[in-house]
Amino acid sequence: MTDFLLSKKIVCVLEDEFGQKGFFGIGDSALEPFKAREDWEPGFDSCVIFIYPHITIVPEDDTPLEPRCPDCLANVSQPLNKLYCPDEETQLEQIDFGGAKVTCPECRGSFRPDELRDERGKGIFLTDRYVCFTDAGDFRPEWLAEFSQAAGTPHQVVSYWYT
Ligand SMILES: [Zn+2]
Repeated sequence: MTDFLLSKKIVCVLEDEFGQKGFFGIGDSALEPFKAREDWEPGFDSCVIFIYPHITIVPEDDTPLEPRCPDCLANVSQPLNKLYCPDEETQLEQIDFGGAKVTCPECRGSFRPDELRDERGKGIFLTDRYVCFTDAGDFRPEWLAEFSQAAGTPHQVVSYWYT
């Protein structure tokens, strides 16, 4: 996935300290994945490639979500937030969401985070890798298909309010 984005010159390696953390800059062909737009400069601002040794959660914070129980539609923001922030010290990237469950305060049902309903319709995902483009335009479906093939697994585009 990283090799593909680099070899296609979509992203470039940053030389500063961010280069260590999976942060990438805008490559020479950065406009390639996106649909042309007239009202706005296409492309993206920055790109972060996340590859974890365990299962993590997308989005990386719960503020854009309105999570509800898939059975009774009760609000499950509180128990979901507990998964994101189990205590003051734990960083999100340290948490393995592999066995994580949210218990509904109403019907006591137990669900994986990606089984919850998101009222805003974006959804919650569990994955061990994802790419985050900030201030990105709309992706061309052809490019996405090529990327999925190169990465060996289908990729889906989800936009939360901050991307
Ligand atoms: Zn419920």
